[in-house]
Amino acid sequence: MTASGTPANKNQQLDSKNSRLSRRDFIAASGLFALAVAVPGCQASKTAATTEPIIDIHQHLGYSGRPDDVFLEHQRKMGVTTTILLPAGRSVNTASTHEGVSNGLQAKCLGNEDCYNFARAHPKEYLFGANEVPDLADAVKEIEKYLKLGAVVIGEQKFGVECDSPEMQKIYQLAAHYHVPVLMHWQYKMYNYGFDRLHKMLKKYPKTIFIGHAQTWWANIDKNNKDDAAKLYPKGKVTPGGITDRYLSDYPNMFGDLSAGSGLNALTRDEDHARDFLERHQDKLIYGSDCNDPQPTVHECQGAKTIETVRRLAPSKQIERKLLYVNAQRVFRL
Ligand SMILES: [Zn+2]
Ligand SMILES: [Zn+2]
Repeated sequence: MTASGTPANKNQQLDSKNSRLSRRDFIAASGLFALAVAVPGCQASKTAATTEPIIDIHQHLGYSGRPDDVFLEHQRKMGVTTTILLPAGRSVNTASTHEGVSNGLQAKCLGNEDCYNFARAHPKEYLFGANEVPDLADAVKEIEKYLKLGAVVIGEQKFGVECDSPEMQKIYQLAAHYHVPVLMHWQYKMYNYGFDRLHKMLKKYPKTIFIGHAQTWWANIDKNNKDDAAKLYPKGKVTPGGITDRYLSDYPNMFGDLSAGSGLNALTRDEDHARDFLERHQDKLIYGSDCNDPQPTVHECQGAKTIETVRRLAPSKQIERKLLYVNAQRVFRL
């Protein structure tokens, strides 16, 4: 890790794939760095953004073809001080990629080497994950290569595989071994099959931290949800006690990623429920944007709306900080 004339100078001697201490200092320095560069934009509060660091655990490089300079500006304007890049797996035509449909995470996202290089080039603001199509013969080897280089998460796992398949179980074991979470995109009949069986994996791999994300994860906060591939963004009142709600309550190793339209919809569809949900799972939910805005200056970006919504619905300032920063710092061991 290098620093270049910023408050991060004290970290110059520290290596990046290293101790918790250096990452913690690194995050603190990122907050100070934001103080110097923060500019108004999106909907994030200017005042808060300049004083309070935010970790975005869910972003992609080359997302929907977005240029890097636009991406950098977008994250800063959202008020994000640290961004975790989730790579795609390699491009292959297999059943698990729906014969190539899900290559690039179905959104032109770039892979391990690009995310690693980008994070190395922007060490004050960016971290990277490790990923691969899980049923390729050398998937573990490829993921492990980037974990050894300092990847902080395995994911985004967005492939057509059974969640309790032998290849996914190898990934859960790898995540536990390297003390990194595994982040999974749950989408009924499309990505990660068998959400109602995940509890078996949560039980079998108690040292693996699972982070749930996407439509089917969020639809199932509602006890009355009936999974339907044509209705992935349910609206209206939520009855507590859905599968997702129970996983978060019952398993210490289950966490939730607030990113994407699905995360935002889950908060806004029933705000009374959301306040209670944020209170009950205040140590389990983590902010991410998964925002693919093509412009750096949009005023209606979904990632910024989620920050704004968390700030509005969090029952206390302390809970707000957990959701936007503290939980990510703890779970990703930053
Ligand atoms: Zn996703
Ligand atoms: Zn994503």
